[in-house]
Amino acid sequence: MDFIRYAESAASLLNADLADLDDLNAFLESRAWLQRQTTEKDVAHLRHFAADLRPVFVASGDDDVQVVVDGLNELLDRHPVTPMISTHDLGNLHLHVANRAASVSELLVSEALLGLATLVCDLGPSRLGVCAASPCTNVYVDTSPNQSRRYCSDRCSSRANVAAYRARKRIAAVSTPVEPADAPTARESRAL
Ligand SMILES: [Zn+2]
Ligand SMILES: [Zn+2]
Repeated sequence: MDFIRYAESAASLLNADLADLDDLNAFLESRAWLQRQTTEKDVAHLRHFAADLRPVFVASGDDDVQVVVDGLNELLDRHPVTPMISTHDLGNLHLHVANRAASVSELLVSEALLGLATLVCDLGPSRLGVCAASPCTNVYVDTSPNQSRRYCSDRCSSRANVAAYRARKRIAAVSTPVEPADAPTARESRAL
């Protein structure tokens, strides 16, 4: 299994607006074989799971290791993962995170939890976070080599850069009131 991809799709799951079955099927756009099995129950289950998982991303962003570990362990306890070796491609035996009896939501929950748990063990517990470009509340997985990610997307990153630039300009304008370049200074006006 590709745990980074699973961890990233856990973040996408939290960022998806899962209001109804159409939303879930849109989320599963690249996995048509799963779209055929989705039910309203999956939507409710995943919405619930996303709400339970969000505090893990928040805690990771705050470097609160214990909350990250306890949060994931508690979710793993509540959603037992049943991995199996898949034989759908005999030349390439690989692990599936759920058995064939699993519902779509159980499968997505298993992928998310196993992906995040492996990421935390392999890359460290502070690789998750919440977008710093308020009011965006999207979450992200930080796989950058120097662990420098702060935004959910390039769009939020450039929005935050523009906002920071405007704020700096405002502060500069307040602290150094600019006179028109050709206005005489007080001393020069006296001399005139
Ligand atoms: Zn497979
Ligand atoms: Zn964002």
